[in-house]
Parts: sequence; C-alpha cells; structure tokens
Amino acid sequence: MNLEARTASAMIRMHCRARHGAAGGLCAECSVLLAYAEERIAHCPFGAGKPVCNQCSVHCYKPEMRERIQTAMRFSGPRMIWRHPVLAVRHLLRSKRAPGR
Ligand SMILES: [Zn+2]
Repeated sequence: MNLEARTASAMIRMHCRARHGAAGGLCAECSVLLAYAEERIAHCPFGAGKPVCNQCSVHCYKPEMRERIQTAMRFSGPRMIWRHPVLAVRHLLRSKRAPGR
C-alpha cells in the first residue's frame, strides 16, 4: 500500500473510532469510504508523484465521497501529528509540492 493510501486509511480509522464508535474496526460506511479511497488512489494518473488529494487538480472523488473524506480529514488532520507523526510529516511535505513532480 502506498503512502497516500496509508495516510487515508489512518485518518478514516481515527475518525471512525472517535465518531462512530465501531470497536476494533470500521463501521460499514467507513469501510466503503476506505475501499473507495484506496481504489481512487490506485488509479491516480499522477502515480507516485501525486500531490495530496486535497490539492490535486484532478478531483477524482465523486462529490458524496469527497465530502465524507474531507470530514474525516478535517477531524484527523490535526491529530495525525500525535498518532502517526511520520505519516503526518511526510504528508505535509508532499502537500507543498505541485502535481506531477
Ligand atoms: Zn465510521
């Protein structure tokens, strides 16, 4: 699994545990969201050089999923630095980069 997918997965899990209370896993909606995010990331035209999704020029998420992932990321973003510092820092560094480089 690539870094973007790992970051998305960590953020979705964190949000789900705190907000939906599913013990030891994801609730049904978040499982669907995570599978969707992984699939979108796997098919990203920028491949390994992709920017983080919220800065991407393609906007490949359909609106409903985009809304859900944004909710999870707004919640988990500030918490990432404590729970997953390595992922958080690498995500930040990549968010400063332009697409395709
Ligand atoms: Zn959930």
